[in-house]
Amino acid sequence: MKPADQDSSFSIPSTMKAWVLDDPGQLRLTEKPVPQPGPAEVLIRIDAVAFCDGDIRIITRGPPALIQGGLPFNKNFTPGHEYMGRVVKLGAGVDEYEIGERVAVEVHFGCGRCERCRAGMYTSCINYGMDCGTHNKGHRANGFTTDGGFAEYAVNNVNTLVHVPDDIGDEEATLIVTAGTAMYALDTLGGLIAGQTVVVTGPGAIGLMGVAVAKALGADPVILTGTRDTRLNLGKQLGADHLININTENPVEAVKRITKGKGAHYVLECSGNPNGLNDGMDMVMRGGKICLIGFANEPVPVDLGKLVRNHISVFGIRGEGKSATHRAAALVAMKRFRPKIIHTHTFPMDELPTAFKYSRDRIDNAIKVVVKMRDN
Ligand SMILES: [Zn+2]
Ligand SMILES: [Zn+2]
Repeated sequence: MKPADQDSSFSIPSTMKAWVLDDPGQLRLTEKPVPQPGPAEVLIRIDAVAFCDGDIRIITRGPPALIQGGLPFNKNFTPGHEYMGRVVKLGAGVDEYEIGERVAVEVHFGCGRCERCRAGMYTSCINYGMDCGTHNKGHRANGFTTDGGFAEYAVNNVNTLVHVPDDIGDEEATLIVTAGTAMYALDTLGGLIAGQTVVVTGPGAIGLMGVAVAKALGADPVILTGTRDTRLNLGKQLGADHLININTENPVEAVKRITKGKGAHYVLECSGNPNGLNDGMDMVMRGGKICLIGFANEPVPVDLGKLVRNHISVFGIRGEGKSATHRAAALVAMKRFRPKIIHTHTFPMDELPTAFKYSRDRIDNAIKVVVKMRDN
């Protein structure tokens, strides 16, 4: 293999354009040095990046970003974590990827040395955000604790990359990590869902990918609940067998009707509705399992007695651990579903703050808003 520095197909500048977060809600375009890949890392030329609810939260409020041990504001920090592009430089010892290869990323590398990372739960790394000062453990979660994808280049560990086939477009490839989160939720519930009932509550990006992945893995039926018919209909295109608009039908009664009174095997709670867990407990059958992906921003009362009496298991997940993104990418490569269905808008790099507004305010029914970081 030729050393990356001698590959002439990509000329890598010394500085790059990058958006940084100043005060809450304020993004500013600036110049930064192009980062250099260390051992087990590659440099990615970013072609496209999607906005996620996590970005909105970081840009407006700060957490879960953690920069130099604190809030991410006015620290020259570049957010953005759902990006894709081409490998343009290899760090020492990297032979897993080639120069020019198209890749999408998972967000979290973790620290690679704590108990959770060693178990594949790197999204729950004990050393989250500890990549600075005397306690530096080398943790990375690009766009959360280290520089992310609202820039022309980023450095990624090889373990956070997935190959993107040529017939998957740039915008669509940014959505693979969203499908990875849905996959991780189903993994956490046990993964054996073929022929079993999955209810997905909340047709946001992750909920819709939850429908798609559950169906691709053989769940039957898949039931989607929500309030907006436009989004529910996208769920139908992604494989939902039953749509329930909770403005016109009680979702618990509807699930009972569809399952002939038995209840569902699994609920993926993606709405963040304060009553989501209570409703989920009424939707699953005895011994059922609920995975919380969306979450309410305030503490909520829960009928724990019902949970115990009915032997219900509840899981919370964060992000996309245990290489779930690789499995989601495999389903996308096999065309088992098309994430592109949830992509609604594209903006050029210079208009990234407009993309932020579209995503935050759901302007023009925005779901996944993508920024193309270069013209190609
Ligand atoms: Zn995200
Ligand atoms: Zn760790």
